[in-house]
Amino acid sequence: MIEQSLRDEIQGYYSSFLSAKQFRPRYGQRLMIAEVARRLAGDTAGIDTSPIALVQAGTGTGKTVAYALTGALIAAAKDKTLIISTATIALQEQLVLRDLPDIQAKAGMNFTFSLAKGRRRYLCLSKLDASLEGRGQSSKTSDFFPDELLVNAPNQAQVLSLLLDSYGNGTWDGDRDSLAVVVEDQIWRGVSTDRSQCTNRQCSFFSQCAFFRAREGLDQVDVIVTNHDLCCWPTWPLKKARFCRRPSPVYMCFDEAHHLVEKARSQWAGFLGRTTTRSVLEAGATLLDQLEQDLAAAELTEVAQTLSGKPGFAVVIAEALTCFDQLMQHFAGFEVDAMAQGDVGRYRFAGGEIDPSLQTECHHLGSLLGQLDRAVQDWRRTLEQSVSGADPKRAIGARRVDSRARRLFKSVCCRATAAALVRSASGAGGIALRAMAGL
Ligand code: SF4
Repeated sequence: MIEQSLRDEIQGYYSSFLSAKQFRPRYGQRLMIAEVARRLAGDTAGIDTSPIALVQAGTGTGKTVAYALTGALIAAAKDKTLIISTATIALQEQLVLRDLPDIQAKAGMNFTFSLAKGRRRYLCLSKLDASLEGRGQSSKTSDFFPDELLVNAPNQAQVLSLLLDSYGNGTWDGDRDSLAVVVEDQIWRGVSTDRSQCTNRQCSFFSQCAFFRAREGLDQVDVIVTNHDLCCWPTWPLKKARFCRRPSPVYMCFDEAHHLVEKARSQWAGFLGRTTTRSVLEAGATLLDQLEQDLAAAELTEVAQTLSGKPGFAVVIAEALTCFDQLMQHFAGFEVDAMAQGDVGRYRFAGGEIDPSLQTECHHLGSLLGQLDRAVQDWRRTLEQSVSGADPKRAIGARRVDSRARRLFKSVCCRATAAALVRSASGAGGIALRAMAGL
């Protein structure tokens, strides 16, 4: 049951909004306000017990005002955060630049809001560091990220310097949208990252990271506007995704919800990119050579010795390659069939369940990549211990080595997603990974 005081408050602000805009109440909008209020307040008596309201209404009904005004009020009353998620950046911008300020001003409501964007919209210092390091030449590790190679654009060096200077001197917050100049997409790809490559707290730039700094501010606001992709992170619930740290859960409102299925599927699926996975595995040995050189240059010989005493990565990589090739044989001819049908060449398992005949191989590949993942974690600990309290030269060298190693092995594990396939195949995986497994 919604408290009478809350009803009065909603009615009061709604009336103020209408009179300030010189609008008349609209029947559909009032119905929607009532429905949103009942569901958010948990007043489901006489309907059903679901806390979810599904509302479909035509253009011009006033949906935004209905859910935003009501949602913000009830969220404040219940000490929760309202998260509004949309499919398009256009609607997100419309909300933060026009609709929410309009509701605040015309209804006289007092709430704060912010736009939460994905990592790709922010400068990644780790990528910028790597780009500056390899400026004008191809690095060995760049082979692992063929889609993110920096073009040798004439202005590339100036752009990288500008990004570094502006972020470093505090005149820019690292958000691409607030940069005074336009950066070409291909250059931006080289200095930004995504969830699969970001190493979060393990990143040596974490404390200065633009993306995580922007996330910190979200703790404080009442309403967060974001996109469906962010809401569909496998780290659901959102509290774990650092959207907010309020003690209570959030209220979710999905606008443009007809895109949600597609977004959820692409976020929760496990993918195994055939060409990329193979090239990443093949290039593993090259990277190991590079790491040895880095270790020598940083005078970290004792770390190199520690590593050489452990079971080699190269053996595991070679076995993973063999296993991978065997697995791929099951899909021989698939790409040709797909192209003949004008398809994109992506194989999906029916119902998201991996074919039982492939589960053993998937499991094996997953455990090999899991070994690589654990080995690199172990190796990083050794590296950390060995440079703790060391002189700056060793510390800088160690950071470079560590960054290179993490990027490779995270890439291996994320691109292959074999661990995900294993969990899905064994039936122990989360719902996210059961949605679809693609090759
Ligand atoms: S924490 Fe992630 S996004 Fe931030 S600098 Fe490091 S890798 Fe880039």
